[in-house]
Amino acid sequence: METTEVDNFPGYPEGINGPQMMMDLEAQAKRFETDVRSGWITKVDFSGDVKKVFVGDGDDAVEIHANTVILSTGASAKWLGLESEIRLRDIGGGVSACAVCDGFFYRGQDVVIVGAGDSACEEASYLAKLCNKVTMFVRRDEMRASKAMQNRVKAIENIEILYNTETLEVLGEEGVEGVRFRNNISGEEADINVTGFFVAIGHKPNTDIFKDCLELDEQGYIVQAKPGTSLTNVEGVFWSGDCADKVYKQAVTAAGSGCMAALDAERYLAAKGIH
Ligand SMILES: Cc1cc2nc3c(=O)[nH]c(=O)nc-3n(C[C@H](O)[C@H](O)[C@H](O)COP(=O)(O)OP(=O)(O)OC[C@H]3O[C@@H](n4cnc5c(N)ncnc54)[C@H](O)[C@@H]3O)c2cc1C
Repeated sequence: METTEVDNFPGYPEGINGPQMMMDLEAQAKRFETDVRSGWITKVDFSGDVKKVFVGDGDDAVEIHANTVILSTGASAKWLGLESEIRLRDIGGGVSACAVCDGFFYRGQDVVIVGAGDSACEEASYLAKLCNKVTMFVRRDEMRASKAMQNRVKAIENIEILYNTETLEVLGEEGVEGVRFRNNISGEEADINVTGFFVAIGHKPNTDIFKDCLELDEQGYIVQAKPGTSLTNVEGVFWSGDCADKVYKQAVTAAGSGCMAALDAERYLAAKGIH
């Protein structure tokens, strides 16, 4: 729902606008009589055979019971929180948190990427194949990424790494035209001309409401109880998509794991004799 162009989902040769794709998927699910309801889940109770989810707060809260639950609450990208960054992100003006999704739009152009972990290095390497030049802003005097990833990035000719560097402002009204940054040791400020600004400082899985009843890892991702399946550590509760996937994070991988979860849930119900 939060993106404009999706160019890499199979079945759309011309690309597709994100919200339209969501409407298409919903319409397809409804063709099979799926009961689609809107609401915010505030609490869950997976302790018994009958799973409970609570929608909404206070007197208006509604309790839904189910024999099985598939969790697909996704993960939210972290942002720096600068006014200019958020404004340009919201108007689709060249600020992105996903190089694989949006790198294509910056072919042959100069971009900045902010981040210092393994994912930031991977995204920078990916962008370097498409872009003319990639400038990487690292806040400290070293990266958090593994040595192997750091070496990979350092060996790429069109990536320049600026250490001790913080973003002050993303420049441009209708779209990114540059970035103002500061060296946090010397205090020196400068502008760089770029057309894309990528933020790769991590994701936060939307799993807070599950923390008391499900095994989560140290970052909050749902722990995949059995690799190659959608099982969680609670019988009858399955994961799908970015809430348990810290590696791929693509629409098609989320849809694929959604299919795995549906099949696993169906088998679980069949084994219990529930039809
Ligand atoms: C700006 C942007 C551009 C992207 N572009 C691409 C692209 O071009 N190609 C690509 O393959 N991928 C792209 N992605 C990544 C892709 O969108 C995700 O990988 C995919 O949507 C993950 O699907 P999901 O179902 O796991 O989670 P999501 O799509 O994030 O869906 C999770 C849903 O759960 C809801 N939710 C969370 N908590 C609760 C709760 N407590 N109660 C009720 N609802 C809740 C959320 O509101 C959300 O609607 C992009 C992502 C972003 C942000």
